[in-house]
Amino acid sequence: MTKAIVQQEKGGTDKLIWQDHTPGSPEQGEVLIRHTAIGVNFIDTYVRSGAYPMMEFPGVIGMEAAGVVEALGDGVTDLNVGQRVAYVMTTPGAYSEKRVVPAERMVPLPDDIDDRTAAALMLKGITAEQLLFSMAPASAGDTVLIHSAAGGVGQLLTTWAKAIGCTVIGTTSTPAKADLIRSLGADHVIVSSKEDVAARVAEITDGKGCASVYDGVGKDTFETSIAAAAKFGRVISFGNASGAVPPINIAVLAPKCLLLARPQMFPYIAERADLLRAADNLFAALRDGKIKADISATYPLAEAARAHDDLEGRKTTGQILLLP
Ligand code: NDP
Repeated sequence: MTKAIVQQEKGGTDKLIWQDHTPGSPEQGEVLIRHTAIGVNFIDTYVRSGAYPMMEFPGVIGMEAAGVVEALGDGVTDLNVGQRVAYVMTTPGAYSEKRVVPAERMVPLPDDIDDRTAAALMLKGITAEQLLFSMAPASAGDTVLIHSAAGGVGQLLTTWAKAIGCTVIGTTSTPAKADLIRSLGADHVIVSSKEDVAARVAEITDGKGCASVYDGVGKDTFETSIAAAAKFGRVISFGNASGAVPPINIAVLAPKCLLLARPQMFPYIAERADLLRAADNLFAALRDGKIKADISATYPLAEAARAHDDLEGRKTTGQILLLP
């Protein structure tokens, strides 16, 4: 018998219960994984609360982890027992000691990428790659606005955009997190609890605004993002940390001829070839020092509720992990 964080119904962190859980045996095309590190993502809070109806209850949340293959189902020929792998999947279930997963979603881990780094970065790093290189390709010389730049995705966007040659303006809620964002190389930091973000962006850019705005905060920042974008700029709304963006009148985009996108990382890596390409790009960026994992806190898997309280309470920075 193994253990997992099992949720009987959607709701608050009190619904995250550490209990016995049978992972089952791998069938055709599946493998049994023993998790060694589990990434905590804001999306896990949406699944837990029911804001994203991606899971039947009772169930186990969690979209990404790293671990070791313990058993192979029939037909699995490209993985071995004992092999280190990592994954990011649309099917929740990662908040568990062991789990049966489809072999075709596993990414073999190179020797120089450790399990914790992989678990911290698969979802957030591939998201950053999608946003900067596919959805709204950033170019050297662009000025970009990154909301909540001290967060998990935010830090990766910041350092990767700097590596591309962008001028980065980051926002955050506290002076302490502002210092962290500066240490990552951001050119300007705006503390949103003390300053008017759109006005500061106008000041910094001589009234021009930003070529791209990367907004994972949602409801609280959407209007600011539109205001901070340059003429012919792009607003990429990719998350709802403060709540969902209410329905909008698309005419708000007209005065500056803005492009608006609401991407999700999962379709980007739906095909195995795209998953492996994105993982290779992520590992290459790590090796080149363009990005790094900033694992600011780890929690025992049994204490997943505490991790969610800290994430939703804006107490975390960078990436956080659960350790089985
Ligand atoms: P973060 O580590 O960035 O944590 C969320 C941060 O959002 C907080 O630290 C806080 O930073 C900021 N924030 C602003 N308002 C609130 C609020 N009301 N409550 C809580 N936090 C708030 O999380 P992740 O890196 O995991 O995710 C960041 C965003 O990206 C999320 O919205 C997530 O859903 C989205 N995302 C989207 C993906 C996609 O495919 N579209 C994939 C991955 C993530 P501060 O205090 O500095 O403002």
